Amino acid sequence: MNFKKKLIEAVKDQQSIFGDTLFEALPEPEKKIKEESRAEFHVKEKVELENTGSFFMDDFQKADSLNKLYKLIHECQKCPLGKTRTKFVFGVGNPNADILLIGEAPGRDEDLQGEPFVGRAGKLLNDILIAINLEREEVYIANILKCRPPNNRNPEPSEMQTCMPYLHKQIELIKPKLILCLGLIAATALFNKKLTLGQLRGNIYEFNGIKTMVTYHPAALLRNPNWKKGCWQDVRQFRKLYDEIKDNR
Ligand code: URA
Repeated sequence: MNFKKKLIEAVKDQQSIFGDTLFEALPEPEKKIKEESRAEFHVKEKVELENTGSFFMDDFQKADSLNKLYKLIHECQKCPLGKTRTKFVFGVGNPNADILLIGEAPGRDEDLQGEPFVGRAGKLLNDILIAINLEREEVYIANILKCRPPNNRNPEPSEMQTCMPYLHKQIELIKPKLILCLGLIAATALFNKKLTLGQLRGNIYEFNGIKTMVTYHPAALLRNPNWKKGCWQDVRQFRKLYDEIKDNR
């Protein structure tokens, strides 16, 4: 796609999410600062793993920080995806975030870069966050599966079952005040219940005492732009809920 077409598509994307307000990308120097502060989130909790010699793979439940958890699970071979992945996609963001976003599984870009939501769907997710006054760096983003299913197929139930304890542990460590599930697969895995997106959207659920909402997966929005309006309603409700929680603190 040439640049002009790309530009038109990006502006149309923005318009269908934000209406007629145009958002400009951050200027380069500011972007750099943001990236540096993101890197800080990773080093903040740096731990001396020499002192944790008693940890083994299955001892990940004992991890008391995200960094320790990462070190304990990033070489996981508990399911066949361990053999086919390029990088283990642990999660990214503020380890003390109030908000946790949960996606499905890494795609091609995420598998190559080791970070969730960095491809086209990730760009749309960043725009959605900006639209509700949130920065990617202030939330935490993780997936149900930490490894890419070949050809981006749907996760197998056995893969989700094997991988979910890692997400549960991440939730325990981050202690978010709010969770947003991106798509039906994430919601089904988290609630361990089969419902439809229509039943799930617009409602506030509790997961282990954490208020949880569900919206469309950004990749689904790229395929079906007419769902963006619904997503916009969901994330505005989500933002309102977050403001209420903050006001009540
Ligand atoms: N889709 C997801 O669900 N997660 C990612 O990290 C990327 C795309």
